[in-house]
Amino acid sequence: MSEEDPATAADVAMIGGHPVLDFVNTVAWRHDDARRADRVNSADAWARWGVAAGVLQPGAASGPATDESARDALVELREALWAVLDALVDDRPLPQPSWESVHRALVDARAKAVLPAKLPLRWQPAPPGLAALRGTLALQAEQLLASDDLRRVHRCAGPGCGWFFLDRTRAGTRRWCSSGDCGNRDRARRHYARKHPSAGPQGGPGS
Ligand SMILES: [Zn+2]
Repeated sequence: MSEEDPATAADVAMIGGHPVLDFVNTVAWRHDDARRADRVNSADAWARWGVAAGVLQPGAASGPATDESARDALVELREALWAVLDALVDDRPLPQPSWESVHRALVDARAKAVLPAKLPLRWQPAPPGLAALRGTLALQAEQLLASDDLRRVHRCAGPGCGWFFLDRTRAGTRRWCSSGDCGNRDRARRHYARKHPSAGPQGGPGS
């Protein structure tokens, strides 16, 4: 994946099965300090990501410079959501500062949202531009955190990967962000271990 041309849609994986998980997944290799990569860096890239993720209407986030402070607020929400979800899948207590930050963002999004009188009824974030992306994601995070789907949020078993996805399998057995990605690396590792039984486990994820 190219790291200098982020959010050209196809370049940022949308494997989460939920916009909020794809949002948190815009950082790759969360659990690998050496490889961690933030795939969406500029306000423009976020606007493109929002459209690719189906969260923003094309053109909805355009505007003068789609201001950097809105981008910072977006990244703050992403990091807080990540910390909350990461604790959740491990059954750890929620990290308080992150949880408070998420909670504030959800309350704030509701306070600023409007409910257009047309069907289907849907709360919409009021502020235009990139703030709308944050507002929409906060409203969607509220739904996710209130729903039974929360139990289906799993983290990829790939070493270092850290991506989240909604496990839609009946038995709850999905292990990988993508079978062609971390799943492949796992197969390669096990294949290598069979061929080289004395070499021990191969270090870290491959590509
Ligand atoms: Zn993975």
